Amino acid sequence: PGKLYVVATPIGNLADISFRAVETLKQVGLIAAEDTRHVKLLLNHYGISNKIMSFHQHNEEKVAAYLLEKLRSGLSIALVSDAGTPLLSDPGLPLVQKIKDAGLDVVPIPGACALIAALSAAGLPVTQFSFEGFLPRTSSARKAFFTERLGAATTWVFYESSHRILAALQDMATVLPPDRQVVIARELTKLHETIVKTPLANALELVTQDENMRKGEFVVIVDGATKVRKEDDALSPEQLNILLVLMRKCS
Ligand code: SAM
Repeated sequence: PGKLYVVATPIGNLADISFRAVETLKQVGLIAAEDTRHVKLLLNHYGISNKIMSFHQHNEEKVAAYLLEKLRSGLSIALVSDAGTPLLSDPGLPLVQKIKDAGLDVVPIPGACALIAALSAAGLPVTQFSFEGFLPRTSSARKAFFTERLGAATTWVFYESSHRILAALQDMATVLPPDRQVVIARELTKLHETIVKTPLANALELVTQDENMRKGEFVVIVDGATKVRKEDDALSPEQLNILLVLMRKCS
């Protein structure tokens, strides 16, 4: 049988694609793409002419069954989304599940991912973080979401569109403290790339006042809540000394 290659494509700058990804897109028998016009721009840029099939949220189940048959008959297939890594807030999960359930190989071809790019340049802790995808669309649901995450100790990240970035920050500011560090990563790898790390109150002001800060695609990263440091619970050297002296007296 053929293999399914899950191929990451650029998130803006067309040069952000691996040699292996380009080779794979050339060599597979079929490219399953979220938007055929979109992927054609990339393929043209790299001089690749290959068969493309449209694959999106609404026909995913049906196309997945068809692609499984194709794989079984020996065809290799590349799955790409409009930008970045497929399945990450993008279609593809039912297809990957179906193919793994059938015992066939799914091979990742890693590359750009907006979430990881933003984290790598944000300057907030990344030893542990949680990815929240897109936020709920209504203000009340967003506030409930922020309330839930208020005390989270690790960094958290979400995707946002230009339509909702301001509303999201406004809702966040009603729940989180004004001095909480946030990073607004906008238009990554593109001409107007902007990565601002600043307290929430300032981020809100920036996005409210500067129209350009509401344009494009966004990753928002929020610092975890300040932890009570372990040392605060522990005894100071002086306290420890007093304790030792007392213990010696008692023995
Ligand atoms: N699969 C993609 C990935 O690996 O990053 C994400 C796809 S999701 C449908 C699109 C969202 O990702 C955008 O609304 C934005 O939040 C984020 N995004 C994608 N490209 C971006 C970029 N160049 N700069 C900032 N955010 C981006």
